[in-house]
This record gives sequence, structure tokens and C-alpha cells, in this order.
Amino acid sequence: MTAKTDETSGLEDASEIYFETVKTLKRKLKACKACAATDDITYLWICVSAGGLKRGFCGENANDSPVPMHQWLNVIDEAASLGANWLILTLNDPLEECEDIWAISKWAQQIHNMTVGLHLKNSATLTKPEVKLIRQLELSKTKVLLRCEPDKLPGISEQEGITVWAANPQPDGERPKCRGLKRMIFVNDKGVLYTCGLVDGDDSYRIGHVEDGHLMQTLNAPNAPRLIDANIRLITPECDGCPALLAGFFQGI
Ligand code: SF4
Repeated sequence: MTAKTDETSGLEDASEIYFETVKTLKRKLKACKACAATDDITYLWICVSAGGLKRGFCGENANDSPVPMHQWLNVIDEAASLGANWLILTLNDPLEECEDIWAISKWAQQIHNMTVGLHLKNSATLTKPEVKLIRQLELSKTKVLLRCEPDKLPGISEQEGITVWAANPQPDGERPKCRGLKRMIFVNDKGVLYTCGLVDGDDSYRIGHVEDGHLMQTLNAPNAPRLIDANIRLITPECDGCPALLAGFFQGI
């Protein structure tokens, strides 16, 4: 058997993307017909881990993580068709290990003109290798979100031309000033939709899965939980990077 050249595999990649795009466009047309009466979505917030995305993307251990890259891109397509203009990616693993996020981020910026927020859970400041990686994105449409010390909140700075915002603009323990919860789609690294990051993993706030069907139909299901009980609604580190929270502190989101 002859090994594939880089050029051949590049053509196959392009063709695969083309067919996925066509399928997506068809799906979007159907989705638009079904969503006329719904609140606009502004934020798409996805949590990713290196292992979670890679397993599905590379086809290894597919039973553990059956969400492949084209499905993630479809989620972005559908969210954009519903009005999302912000994509926040919360990284549970170091930036260098989450190589799949570049394809996702470029797709959001280049195909949908979305602003991308990279929330680096494991970094307190940007390292030189991280800066180099981030610079492959369109910096005018990129924000980096890092957890800040309470005395520096709400926290905004610039590092090597990259805008950095505090991922936690409000101190822990306070009532969150989050706005637009119903305008947000939250997806964890296994493709499960929850009301927001605070309740990730809590079945009573599970909305569905990205493979359940069109996002809008999933969000509009009569029993889909879209609000948070006031008793648990307090700022915790799980709120870090939440776009509905950032919107109350930073302009442009
Ligand atoms: S994650 Fe926290 S800040 Fe964001 S919507 Fe939920 S409760 Fe509000």
C-alpha cells in the first residue's frame, strides 16, 4: 500500500471540510425555520480538555468520547446561525496540549466573524510559548481570560499585543452580576449542554447533548432548565470565564 503524501491528505481534508460545510448549511436552513420565536443567542461557552477533544477527533477510544471535530464545528455553525458572536473556550488542560482549539477558534473567527475568548484555567500569566501560539489567531478578535487576584479586579491588561481580561471579574462568594443567562449556550467537554458552568455535571440542570438534534430545538424543549436556583447562585471558580458574567464588567461583550 502506498503511503499518502501531505498533498493528498491535504486535499482529503479540504474535501471533508467542504462536504461538512454543505451539510451544515442545509442544517442551518432547517434550524432557522424552527427558531423564529426564540431569544437571540449571544454567547457560546465550551469547555475543552486535551483528552476529551482528542479522543473523539482522532478516532481513538471513540466509545469514550464520540464527539468528533466536525461535530464541534457544527455546534459553532448552529450557534452562529442563532446569533452567537462570542465563543469562549475554557481550557481544562495547558494551552500547548489543547491543539484542537486552533481549528475551532479559526473557524469561529474566519467563517463567522466571532470574537474568541481563550480562558486558560491553568495559567496565571501568559508564557512566551503561549503568546506564540495565540498569535496565530486574529488578535483584534481574541481575548485571553486569566484568573486574577481579588485586589486586581475587575482586571484588564495587555501582554505582547494580546488583550487579557480577568476570568473572575467579581470576587468569589458574591451574588453574580451575570446577565443574559438565556442568551448563552454552555457545552462541557463531553458535548453535554447545561444551564451554565456553575452547574456543569448537575443532572437537574442538564439541557441535552450536542448530538440530540438542532441546538435551538434542544434549548427550547419545554423542560429544558434555563435558569439557576437563587439558593446556589453564588460566584465560585466554576463561574470563571462565563461570558454572561464578563458582559457586566467589560465593554464589547
Ligand atoms: S456560571 Fe456563574 S456567573 Fe455565569 S451564568 Fe452561571 S451563575 Fe451566573
